[in-house]
Amino acid sequence: MNTPIAASESLDEARQERTSGSATTPARRESGAAVPAAVPVPVATPDLLEEIRLASDRLESASPKEILAWAVERYFPKLTMATAFGPEGCVILHFLAEVEPRVPVFNLDTGYQFAETLELRDRIARRYGIEVEMKQPDLTVAEYEVQHGGPLYKTQPDRCCFDRKVTILQRAAVGFDAWMSGIRRDQSPDRARAPIVGWDKKFGLVKVSPLANWTKQEVWRTITDHDVPYNPLHDQGYTSIGCWPCTRAVALGEDERAGRWSGFAKTECGLHTLDDQGGAEQDDGAPRSTGL
Ligand code: SF4
Repeated sequence: MNTPIAASESLDEARQERTSGSATTPARRESGAAVPAAVPVPVATPDLLEEIRLASDRLESASPKEILAWAVERYFPKLTMATAFGPEGCVILHFLAEVEPRVPVFNLDTGYQFAETLELRDRIARRYGIEVEMKQPDLTVAEYEVQHGGPLYKTQPDRCCFDRKVTILQRAAVGFDAWMSGIRRDQSPDRARAPIVGWDKKFGLVKVSPLANWTKQEVWRTITDHDVPYNPLHDQGYTSIGCWPCTRAVALGEDERAGRWSGFAKTECGLHTLDDQGGAEQDDGAPRSTGL
C-alpha cells in the first residue's frame, strides 16, 4: 500500500502559473477552418507536467480510495468528477461518499440518455446524498435535430458527441483544476496507456483515473459486496452504456465496448482520447473519425 503523496509547494506554484498564464487554442470544425473554442483552455507548464508524472508514478500501486484521498487533498475544492453512471462511476461515487462527498459531480446530459440511467441518478442521491448535476447542451434534442435536418448520431456521431458532450465538459471544467473519470486500462487498447494522473489537454485540467489499474471483476465485486446502485440495463446484456441511439446489448464473447457506436469506426465519445493526455502539445479540439 502506498502512502498518499504529500502536498508539494512546487505543484501548487505550477498550478498557479498555469492558471494565471493560461494560453488558449482554437477548436477546428470538420472543414478545417479554425473557430473559437467553447471556452479558453489552459495549457500545462513543463513543471506541472513533471509533477503530474511523478505523482502518477507514485500512485501506480495505490488503491482507488487512496488515489481519491490524494486527489481530494491536492485539488479539492477545485476538483470535480464527470460520470455517465457506469459501474465504474458508481464505484467511485461509493468511495467518494466516504472520502469527500462535497466534490461536485456532474453528468453530461445529452438528451439521449436511457430512462434507466436518469433514474440511477436519483438512487445514487438517496443512497449517498450526492446530487449529480445534470449539464445540458444549449439546444434541446428537438432543436438540435431541426438545426441539422435530422439526428446527427446517424451520420456524424463524432460531431454529435462533440456538440453534446465535449463542449459541455469544456464549459463545466471552468474554475476547476482537476477532474476524475472512471476509465480502466483493460477497457480498450486506447485506454491501456491511461495514467493514474495525467494532463488533459482538451479540457485544460489534471485528470485523475482512480480505477485505471482495476479490472472489470474488481469493479463488479465492489458493487455486489457493498450493494452499490447500478444501471439495471447491465443485467440485460448492456456492458457499456451511453446514449440510447448509440448503445446496444453485446453478445457473449463480444468486447465490453462492442455495443457502443456499433457500425461505426468510432470507439470513444471524445472525453477520453488518449493523445489528449499527458503530453505538452495542445490539442486543437477537432472532431475525429475515431476517439472523439
Ligand atoms: S453517444 Fe450518440 S447520441 Fe450521444 S452524443 Fe454521441 S453520437 Fe450523440
